[in-house]
Amino acid sequence: MLLRHTPKEITERSALMINPAKTCQPIGAMYAALGIHGCLPHSHGSQGCCAYHRSALTRHYKEPVSAATSSFTEGSSVFGGQANMLQAIENIFAVYNPVIIAAHTTCLSETIGDDLKQIRKKALTEGKIPEGKYMISASTPSYVGSHVTGFSTMVKSMAGLAETTGKKNGKVNIIPG
Ligand code: SF4
Repeated sequence: MLLRHTPKEITERSALMINPAKTCQPIGAMYAALGIHGCLPHSHGSQGCCAYHRSALTRHYKEPVSAATSSFTEGSSVFGGQANMLQAIENIFAVYNPVIIAAHTTCLSETIGDDLKQIRKKALTEGKIPEGKYMISASTPSYVGSHVTGFSTMVKSMAGLAETTGKKNGKVNIIPG
């Protein structure tokens, strides 16, 4: 079939093959989070973003993908989503009981200026993250980079959970993009 196309068309087709579609950062962050045992990804933004990211991954892998959302309303879109996030942390640990919540931002929460690291600190201070449970976060505004950037940012955040034993075992862990 390819022989029927002009050299220009073949070049364009090849370009499509080596330049695949890119989508928004949170999809990469959500995908990375799904690789952690006992983790529930959390989308800090509107329900629409979370629904889109879940359905994109569900369609691609033909597996249902679970994720929570901060469910921004008009109020949180203007005044910030901290209250929603704190309530979400409580609800997630009470209802779904994951070992870890991996939260990522969206265009909306980034534009407002929500800081998930600061919200996590507040949640810890207020005792909303139970003993033996964790929360990590990634800043993933979708007007920068792509799902590849979101994946890397979430993986970097996961690496922050590692604690040194002080001993070397002669192995290197390589985490590709
Ligand atoms: S608003 Fe931003 S984060 Fe939400 S789906 Fe669109 S590009 Fe992705």
